[in-house]
Amino acid sequence: TQYVYRFGGGVSDGGQGDKNLLGGKGANLDGMASIGLPVPPGFTISTEMCTRYYAEGQSFPESVRAEVANGIAHIEGITGKRFGDAADPLLVSVRSGARVSMPGMMDTVLNLGLNDETVQGLAATSGDERFAWDSYRRFIQMYSDVVLGLDHGSFEEALEIAKEDQGHFLDTDMTADDWQKLVDEYKRLVQEQWGKPFPQDVHDQLWGAIGAVFGSWESDRAKVYRRLNGIPGDWGTAVNVQAMVFGNMGETSATGVAFTRNPSTGERAYYGEFLINAQGEDVVAGIRTPQYLTKVAREEANAKPLSMEEAMPETYAELARVFDLLETHYRDMQDIEFTVERGKLWMLQTRSGKRTAKAALKIAVDMANEGLITEAEAVGRVDPAALDQLLHPTLDPDAPRDVLTKGLPASPGAASGAVVFDADTAEKRAELGDAVILVRIETSPEDIHGMHAARGILTARGGMTSHAAVVARGMGRPCVSGAGTLAIDGKAKLFRVGDRAIKEGEIITIDGATGEVMAGAVPTVQPELAGDFGTLMVWADKVRRLKVRTNAETPLDCRTARGFGAEGIGLCRTEHMFFDAARITAVRQMILAADEKGRRAALAKLLPEQRSDFAEIFEIMAGLPVTIRLLDPPLHEFLPHEESEFDEVSQAAGVGVEALKRRAAELHEFNPMLGHRGCRLGVTYPEIYEMQARAIFEAAVEVAEKTGEAPIPEVMVPLVATKRELELMKDVIDKAAEAVFADKGRRIDYLVGTMIELPRAALKAGEIAEVGQFFSFGTNDLTQTTLGVSRDDAGRFLTTYVDKGIFARDPFVSLDVEGVGELIRLAAQRGRATKPDLKLGICGEHGGDPASIAFCEQTGLDYVSASPYRVPIARLAAAQAAL
Ligand code: PEP
Ligand code: MG
Repeated sequence: TQYVYRFGGGVSDGGQGDKNLLGGKGANLDGMASIGLPVPPGFTISTEMCTRYYAEGQSFPESVRAEVANGIAHIEGITGKRFGDAADPLLVSVRSGARVSMPGMMDTVLNLGLNDETVQGLAATSGDERFAWDSYRRFIQMYSDVVLGLDHGSFEEALEIAKEDQGHFLDTDMTADDWQKLVDEYKRLVQEQWGKPFPQDVHDQLWGAIGAVFGSWESDRAKVYRRLNGIPGDWGTAVNVQAMVFGNMGETSATGVAFTRNPSTGERAYYGEFLINAQGEDVVAGIRTPQYLTKVAREEANAKPLSMEEAMPETYAELARVFDLLETHYRDMQDIEFTVERGKLWMLQTRSGKRTAKAALKIAVDMANEGLITEAEAVGRVDPAALDQLLHPTLDPDAPRDVLTKGLPASPGAASGAVVFDADTAEKRAELGDAVILVRIETSPEDIHGMHAARGILTARGGMTSHAAVVARGMGRPCVSGAGTLAIDGKAKLFRVGDRAIKEGEIITIDGATGEVMAGAVPTVQPELAGDFGTLMVWADKVRRLKVRTNAETPLDCRTARGFGAEGIGLCRTEHMFFDAARITAVRQMILAADEKGRRAALAKLLPEQRSDFAEIFEIMAGLPVTIRLLDPPLHEFLPHEESEFDEVSQAAGVGVEALKRRAAELHEFNPMLGHRGCRLGVTYPEIYEMQARAIFEAAVEVAEKTGEAPIPEVMVPLVATKRELELMKDVIDKAAEAVFADKGRRIDYLVGTMIELPRAALKAGEIAEVGQFFSFGTNDLTQTTLGVSRDDAGRFLTTYVDKGIFARDPFVSLDVEGVGELIRLAAQRGRATKPDLKLGICGEHGGDPASIAFCEQTGLDYVSASPYRVPIARLAAAQAAL
């Protein structure tokens, strides 16, 4: 097998670049080389090597050593420098590169190939002794951190002490001598912490770094990142080794990162940051505040330091040409790293740029309008889950704001929460249900779990391309970065801005769209859903086959969902209507009644209430199907559980306290989820379902008469296991319908169907379909009952199950396609074998999960039903599933 693929200097072994083989970074380096862009020569060790490395107990086969030597020779041939040559040394960078960018992994080692001898050669050939020693100390620092795993802080500290000793304020004040002394100190630190001298053999350095990249694939951070992002562990990473070019060789050198369009708004304008006389990591790490790329951006921000367009007009013009070439080549917005070494432009990286949901939408729609991609491709370009960001409220522009400070608008959305200063606390408090804002000087990959748990992220340092900004955008968390006036005191657990101090636990609000940081919670408003969003939805609807309904029972939710494009209601949970303060008493009287007569008396009070509920929903959903599920939960849920409530409830219901307690005790169940609930209630107390059915049909007739448009009720029976249960319940429903129709002198079309949420129902779907006119898969209960995992208690161990790879994702969030999915497939087949036009839908939480929706498309369901805010997500996911 070939493991090493060369690129640069007219060579591109990988051709157009296969991401699975070469990783994203490697494939794109190869791609850039193949279209003649100026890429420093190098080679990629493929992901297959990573897999083999782990298969063979973390060791390398002999053959790959020869291939790597060959790769180094390729770089030497083009640069004319030799690796380890004391006179004119070749220096390389070593970077990880998985199929998708993974901030959890070892990232980069720069300047590899420097040692006590070659540093002299670098000084001589560059004519810059200071630069050479600075490069060497950077190399030792990075290598010690990412390859040797030594304490990063002690190196930082040594640098601070060195500056203080010399009375320097900035890194740039350090002289060659100062750097050389720091190198000695760094080497001492390595010896002290590692127990061995810093490796002087350049080949040892190289293999150390290669091993560290492959090793980082299985680091805890990488594993957390993979789990959060659903990246399989067997993909492996590639390693990229590439000739160094230097952005820190004086005033004609620079380094920068850029996007071919604005990653925050999607606007078609080059967007980026650069630093003169700096090395790549300086821009990303937020150590120095970068300068703008374009004149327009600088002027807009009212910034002084010249933009690249102004400071280096010729190189900038070439860069702009490269941007356009890359966009046309990759047909997507690109995120680019470049370096200018003494006036010559080098491209270090390109990849499809991470973007906010808003930008993703705009870019997809714009590119389709520009003719760069098709409408269908545009539909495929937007991550449905990311739409969430756009659908959620933003700050009320008219609400008063107590603005503490302003940083960069790094990731949009507004969030309020209690201030926390570290990732672990963020995670702990979030688990307790608190909304938290993670406040850090800057973030690093170690903070990922805390960023995920937080509602928003605020950092004191770092630009729009800092770690915090990039990761937050990817996660859809609002983020304000680089709020420079923020002074964080981690020990005292507070931050100061001016003369104000905000302590841990106090509430702040951040606005990721403006960069504002406010004290207290600021109210929010609903988003506008016109423009690009509307356009993309229209395109999505053109390709979509699955219908999208909503799970809703309140008028507000129904309106919201309809506004989001819901094509009916897939699940109206009637029990939610029973908790209303005015009705709960009648519900309790019904439960507490001694006999059927008593129950009927209580139900009679509920009937008009239910009727008006349904009438309101039918009107909102005019012309669309509305699935109403009859009562489902065990009755004890409606009774008080606290001693303190008994008195009041007993008075309201007109039942003695003792009788109330006795009934509550009678209704107690050991396992209520498998107890007296669902259609079992309807079987034992048919009058309950009869009342609900009457309310449905009376409301339907009423609305038909009032609006001239008859609603289409679909009456749904929960928790059916057998055909006979459904037969009995259908009989109750049909009789109620006939009674109402006779009474009102008007008929309405309706369906009676069942939920499929028990394994037996799925297995006997063929028989059940003889009675039921539709099936709706209740995948919450079906998951619970198929796995034998309680949906209310699963949280305690499911993360471990996901960590250990037992489930790829939480099966209550994303359908267990192999297990539960098989039951659904089977039920669909058996049901349709009986009744070819049987209507099939899904109304569990999975109906709003893109991966599960893809499964529903493949299985040939007719619709998915999702909570209102997930309706647009479902529309887009359904379209993508059909592409
Ligand atoms: C289900 O079980 O999937 C369902 C939709 O019903 P509920 O969540 O109300 O039990
Ligand atoms: Mg259920």
